Amino acid sequence: MLPWRSRGRAAARRGPEATLSAALDELRLLFGPEACKNLQPLVYSDWVNLPLIGGAYSHAISRLADVMGVLGTPYYDRVFFPGEATHSYDFSTAHGAFETGLRAARELLAR
Ligand SMILES: Cc1cc2nc3c(=O)[nH]c(=O)nc-3n(C[C@H](O)[C@H](O)[C@H](O)COP(=O)(O)OP(=O)(O)OC[C@H]3O[C@@H](n4cnc5c(N)ncnc54)[C@H](O)[C@@H]3O)c2cc1C
Repeated sequence: MLPWRSRGRAAARRGPEATLSAALDELRLLFGPEACKNLQPLVYSDWVNLPLIGGAYSHAISRLADVMGVLGTPYYDRVFFPGEATHSYDFSTAHGAFETGLRAARELLAR
């Protein structure tokens, strides 16, 4: 669960227990109580109160989609660029990062 902006600040004020409990409630609503009965909180990060982060979360915006594909263009057929930012539509995601890794590996092998 990634609450940000005002929700992130409110969650930070409520503290870990209340936030994790709210997250579990939400998961129960989404997937049903049976699917969630063995879930245990694993990690709690409080980015709002980390001075070097201050609650920030950044990601690409969809109107830049054309540019994202350009970022993955190989450099002189010698350097290959994977990473979520190089995906032309699934940027800012883990599966997008994974796919760009496969793409960069294929480009390298095709040389
Ligand atoms: C809090 C949070 C929650 C998220 N939640 C989700 C989610 O629910 N679903 C989802 O799909 N995505 C989520 N994401 C986004 C997802 O995690 C990222 O898009 C994805 O991990 C990016 O993968 P990547 O391999 O492109 O980059 P990264 O995982 O950032 O990997 C880049 C690596 O390069 C290393 N590196 C950087 N510079 C150098 C250098 N000069 N030399 C050597 N190494 C270097 C870094 O240390 C890092 O290990 C979340 C991200 C965050 C931060």
